[in-house]
Amino acid sequence: MSETTIFDKILAREIPADIVYEDDQVLAFKDIAPRAPVHYLIIPKQRIATLNDATPTDQALLGHMMLTAAQLAREAGIAEDGYRVQMNVNKGGGQVVYHIHLHMFGGRPLAE
Ligand code: AMP
Repeated sequence: MSETTIFDKILAREIPADIVYEDDQVLAFKDIAPRAPVHYLIIPKQRIATLNDATPTDQALLGHMMLTAAQLAREAGIAEDGYRVQMNVNKGGGQVVYHIHLHMFGGRPLAE
């Protein structure tokens, strides 16, 4: 699980993405197959394959990803109505891209 992924290519600008936010630690872009009117992915610039591979040294980075999701939800105008933040872990958790990412999605009722 140490191979590079499509997200490395997005970080390197080798393939396009609809980028909504970037700083020194994270990049956020629109999911290519959105499951809601707003569906962003927040990824660290440093590649960590799965949440299982994160260590205590990644604590601030993981917190920054969460706060970035909340900020982007506010900017998208969905914070008050509500939204979902989700990280899939490994095959059983639905992870397809092995570079950790937070899904932030909303803009429709998410009852399930
Ligand atoms: P996961 O199943 O949690 O690993 O989620 C991977 C997500 O990446 C899926 O929601 C895909 O739609 C999304 N995705 C895959 N390739 C791209 C891409 N090139 N640009 C934007 N999103 C992508």
